[in-house]
Amino acid sequence: MAEAGSFADRVKQQADIVRVVGEYVRLKKSGQNFTGLCPFHAEKSPSFAVHPTKQIYHCFGCGVGGDVFKFVMEMEKCAFPEAIRIVAEKCGIAVPRQKERSPEERKENHQRSVLVEMHREAQTFFVKQLEGTLEGKAARAYLEDRGLDKDAISQFGIGYAPSGGDALLRHLKSKYNEKLLVESGLVSRDQSAGRLFDRFRRRITFPISNESGKIVAFGARALGDDMPKYLNSPETPVYSKSNVLYHMDRAKDALRRQDFAILVEGYMDAIAVARAGISNVVASCGTSLAEPQIKLLGRFTKRVIVNYDPDTAGQSATERSLALLLEHDFEVRVLALPPIGNKKADPDLFIRERGKEEYLKLLKDAPPYVDYLIVRARQMDLTTGEGKLRAVNFLMPYVQRIPNRILRSEWATRIAQQLRVDEPVLRAALSKAATERRSEVRTQPELVGRAAKPVERRLIRMLAEAEGFRVELAKQLQNARLYQGLETEKIFVALVIASLSGQPVQATEVGAVLEDRDRRLLFEILFEEANEPTWEEAMSCIEALQHRHAERELADVQRSIEANPAAPELRGLLEKKQELMRRLAAAR
Ligand SMILES: [Zn+2]
Repeated sequence: MAEAGSFADRVKQQADIVRVVGEYVRLKKSGQNFTGLCPFHAEKSPSFAVHPTKQIYHCFGCGVGGDVFKFVMEMEKCAFPEAIRIVAEKCGIAVPRQKERSPEERKENHQRSVLVEMHREAQTFFVKQLEGTLEGKAARAYLEDRGLDKDAISQFGIGYAPSGGDALLRHLKSKYNEKLLVESGLVSRDQSAGRLFDRFRRRITFPISNESGKIVAFGARALGDDMPKYLNSPETPVYSKSNVLYHMDRAKDALRRQDFAILVEGYMDAIAVARAGISNVVASCGTSLAEPQIKLLGRFTKRVIVNYDPDTAGQSATERSLALLLEHDFEVRVLALPPIGNKKADPDLFIRERGKEEYLKLLKDAPPYVDYLIVRARQMDLTTGEGKLRAVNFLMPYVQRIPNRILRSEWATRIAQQLRVDEPVLRAALSKAATERRSEVRTQPELVGRAAKPVERRLIRMLAEAEGFRVELAKQLQNARLYQGLETEKIFVALVIASLSGQPVQATEVGAVLEDRDRRLLFEILFEEANEPTWEEAMSCIEALQHRHAERELADVQRSIEANPAAPELRGLLEKKQELMRRLAAAR
């Protein structure tokens, strides 16, 4: 967020979003706005709009939107500070020299860069061990056996950690103190004796890079039968497992170009797939995908083919990841590789045995996630009613996440046929579940537009930009809680809070506190062509809301009366009903 008075804020004030976006998208003036082809989704007719005075962009097709920094972050795939710098440079605003940081920040930054440097040195060390030692020779033979030739080894920086127990430690300790060595995760401390030793011993090493290509951790596979088979770096100041996707640094371009990702479990899988010429592959490095990893991936593409191991752990990881991906609006397909002989096949084994052509073919035909789930459900015992119920309950949470109602209905029919359950029963369960979770089910962008009544849209617009009477309007709305229960309630709440804060209302800051769906609706409303609002109009909108409020109240009262005609409070309810009816009649 651009805090008031900060450099980011100054850049935002001075930057012209039309000019900045115009460097990436061909924009045409259209009414108050500028429009063009959306750079974030493929389209033939323009649904991407930039608002020159509100300094925001919004796509009516895919729903993306935000301010000039958000746009540059998405386009350049960079972080916020970098986006500020880019925008400042494009607009000819001088970037101040790195501001004096607090001693603490300076220390942390310094520590991080030392740790990254240490990883670079460890990488050189491991590579040399693989190339030039007797032990390394055995490791090379193993790699060759796994189909990894010299080329692959150098391409992916594969190395070897020797068995001695302190070889790396001895290599590093003249340059780094003990504390840093332990903090790097490359060296461990023996709990009882306090002695230091190498974390990775007699293992093949795979450097793990962050998004910008800096090595921040290692994954290591045991050469012999040592346990665990795979050992990774621990969490350190430069590495957090849930923030990093293996191969992301090299996959970026391909992800963007091809607009889909193949998600695999381990680095061996990622390497095998990448070696087959498919570079848009990333590995979660661990069985479950974490939310920050999904967000990272989502900056490059929203389409994923999940190709996890077919074992039980892989299956449940697939299902967990599916749920998370769907929640983040990803379009998901699942590739479940067929067994080879009686061996379950991960991507690495499959490509080695069957070749890349076969893998590509299966990849192309990978079914949508619902098909995959139906197959899984059919593996359950469907002979009893109880078993069927279990299968339906297994599927339900996923089906509910299908945003499109028609599609959801089609799937219900298919599930009913495939599982041989009574369709009306299934539909009832589905619609019940859908009502209970309506707020969580994402709405398609084209449906959002109809979500709010004109009166609500108008009032929202006024709260956002009627400088003259916004505060007064916000007070009135808040006192009577007129927006309570409306579909736009959350937007109203955010705008009322912003209006009463006394600061100018910034669309992107209000949008930032809203859920994606509400943010889209808010932006759509802000982009509508509209006349200058007046106080009279505001008052008539408020009256309309009051009327609807009274109608809703009347319906509630009526329901209470009918539900329990013998209740002691009946008298009070009837009086209330009379009063509401009088009010409604008077308003007519
Ligand atoms: Zn778009």
